[in-house]
Amino acid sequence: MTLNQAIETLNRVEKAVYALNHAMDIMNTDGETVAPKDSWRVRGEAMAYLSGLAYQELQAPETEEALKTILQHRGETDETTFRRAEVLQEDYEDMHVLPMDEYVAYNQLVSDAGAVWREAKENNDYASFAPLLEKLIAARRRYAALKAPEKPAYDVLLDQYEKGACMETLDPFFAAVRQDLAPVIADVAAHPKETPAFLTREFSVDAQRHFSEKLMALEGLNPRRCTLGETEHPFTSGPNKWDVRITTNYRSDVLGSLYSVVHEGGHALYEMGVADELQCTCLGGGATMGIHESQSRFYENLIGRSRAFCVPLLKIMKESFPEQMAGVTEDALYEAINLSQPSLIRTEADELTYSLHVMIRYELEKAMIAGDLTVAELPAAWNDMYQKYLGVTVPDDRRGVLQDSHWSFGGMGYFPSYALGSAYGVQMLHRMEKEIDVWGSVEKGDLSPLTAWLGEHIHRFGKLKKPQELLSAAMGGPLDPSVYTSYLKEKFTKLYHL
Ligand SMILES: [Zn+2]
Repeated sequence: MTLNQAIETLNRVEKAVYALNHAMDIMNTDGETVAPKDSWRVRGEAMAYLSGLAYQELQAPETEEALKTILQHRGETDETTFRRAEVLQEDYEDMHVLPMDEYVAYNQLVSDAGAVWREAKENNDYASFAPLLEKLIAARRRYAALKAPEKPAYDVLLDQYEKGACMETLDPFFAAVRQDLAPVIADVAAHPKETPAFLTREFSVDAQRHFSEKLMALEGLNPRRCTLGETEHPFTSGPNKWDVRITTNYRSDVLGSLYSVVHEGGHALYEMGVADELQCTCLGGGATMGIHESQSRFYENLIGRSRAFCVPLLKIMKESFPEQMAGVTEDALYEAINLSQPSLIRTEADELTYSLHVMIRYELEKAMIAGDLTVAELPAAWNDMYQKYLGVTVPDDRRGVLQDSHWSFGGMGYFPSYALGSAYGVQMLHRMEKEIDVWGSVEKGDLSPLTAWLGEHIHRFGKLKKPQELLSAAMGGPLDPSVYTSYLKEKFTKLYHL
């Protein structure tokens, strides 16, 4: 095969795989948002069939030969084409681990498990989800053992979400975070603040829906390219930069949805910032989940829970909720959005205690994937760890082990991305502060200079650069957990006058 023929094959296969992924992405989002409940009964089979077509395209001997040919000709192709071959080769190897029938069956399992999990959570019925979780764990363990038999299975899974992440580096990362933050968390717990009255008022879902539109505009999300749906567990999806879907979940408490929108909006800005020429190629999305979470947690916390953001935030809250927000000052809002107390739900946790929620999942996943913890033992282990790490009693599985969607899509190994992403974000912010007037812009309600900075350093590259290279360039050096913990210590020491 000549180099030109190989590039033609790459173009053709990539186009086919993109189209199939586009279809599966929309089917999945539809299933998670507006599709009728029972639609899951056949959607999984249809999606599995499409995944089989993608398998055939990517695993064809011609594709294998084309990728090999391009990878042997470094220097004779442009950088983008070479990188596309590299990334597609990784996808090829990932998929190649399983025979086609098993790959297709796994995709159906994931789709079905999502639907069963949603109902199980709604009905607080762990027993109905347990058999599927058992199958998912077995499938993930089998995949890891086949992919890299020489490695611990959990390391193989971690690497799927954050390239290079492994227990050897994550154990000390979490230990350092815990050691640094434990005294601050204890200090804060010893000086509890009362929940301000306005947070206990009723915020109607309709008013919250209108408010979300204003919030998206404030974050700079173009409504022609990004829409907001409603779902059990907020997420971001979308096949390309012109079609990004974020989701939220409305309850009477206004902050839950507010921060879901800002968080998912951060993911959306990343997707929408990837260069046009990378769209619909295998380089057209975020580099890794850790880097993706660095963008979402950047907007959610570093910006969304800053004092400066309270200026534009209070303005739109007063427009949308004039009665509930009457008399509330910027300072009061700042205190309210940074109330720190050990809680049950990860996605609603404050910045300070958040990483403990991730740590619990990390410990449980390690044990499950190693085969040291069974699905039957999981809820009790979950509840014990919430008692031990956070001092809270889990009242039911709905607010316990069933709260997150990740295990239902086989996402064991994903959670550490949230903690890593939070830490990456602080290092990026420190660099950004040296180059642009971050807080002046935020106070004015103009986040565009921040998004432009992130666009320049992270977004536009998609998967073009290798993750480590992209990250250290944006952070100005390697990951240093003490930068993250110092930021939190300083913020909460001030907020709680410790
Ligand atoms: Zn996220």
